[in-house]
Amino acid sequence: MDIIFTVWFAVLGAIMGSFLGCMGYRIPNKIKTTYPSSFCSSCKKSLKWYMNIPIISYIVQGGRCVYCKEKIGFIYFICEVLGALMFSLNYILFKFNIEFFIATILTCTLIVTIVSDFEYYYISDRVLVLSVIGLILTYLIFDSSTVIMKIVIGVILFGVMFAIKVFGNIIFKRESLGDGDIKLMGVIGLALGFLNSFVALFIASVIGLIFSFITIKRNKEGIIPFGPFIIIGALIVLYFSNIIDSFIFNLF
Ligand SMILES: [Zn+2]
Repeated sequence: MDIIFTVWFAVLGAIMGSFLGCMGYRIPNKIKTTYPSSFCSSCKKSLKWYMNIPIISYIVQGGRCVYCKEKIGFIYFICEVLGALMFSLNYILFKFNIEFFIATILTCTLIVTIVSDFEYYYISDRVLVLSVIGLILTYLIFDSSTVIMKIVIGVILFGVMFAIKVFGNIIFKRESLGDGDIKLMGVIGLALGFLNSFVALFIASVIGLIFSFITIKRNKEGIIPFGPFIIIGALIVLYFSNIIDSFIFNLF
């Protein structure tokens, strides 16, 4: 039975990855999320169903549009692969426990944000609100006694990040943190609780730093899209929560 669910979540993840990657493109470009149906972003021709099969179509078409032969962004292929891998990984690690739902909501948020933040430096409020609703519903179903506490932690983390931004702006005399990143940390607080959110932020900073070193030549504006790294940090905390929890426990 496990193998059936794992394959099912890989397929569902690929489909969701394709959809969410598309949302990451549509939302910042102010294109409706429901209409028109999938189209090529360069020649605008609408795609037939068989040009739209997650992962497979990209490989078969050699990463190019069938009509105009223009390259399809590799980032959309990554979204589909990431969806397939992470949905099934979430199931393998957590089965149908509460962590599965938290990790899968964060995975969905990550996939939209990878496209919108890397390509357009934009984190969608709508996506964050949907994540918050999903997380609150998850807590209400699995662990309703903690839901108020989790919301309070989310609000506190938002406040802490806002304070860091204000100080950062004064010290560096420039925009230090994006508003999207601050709101996103509120979502992470809701998902992980207080201490683990700071662990996630620390991991995000390390990955972000490594990324900025690697891409330093390409990134002339000096802006690093931090949102995806925050969510990746949060997912790493969820995946390694046993190790991290015992580390924090020993620390205090
Ligand atoms: Zn085209």
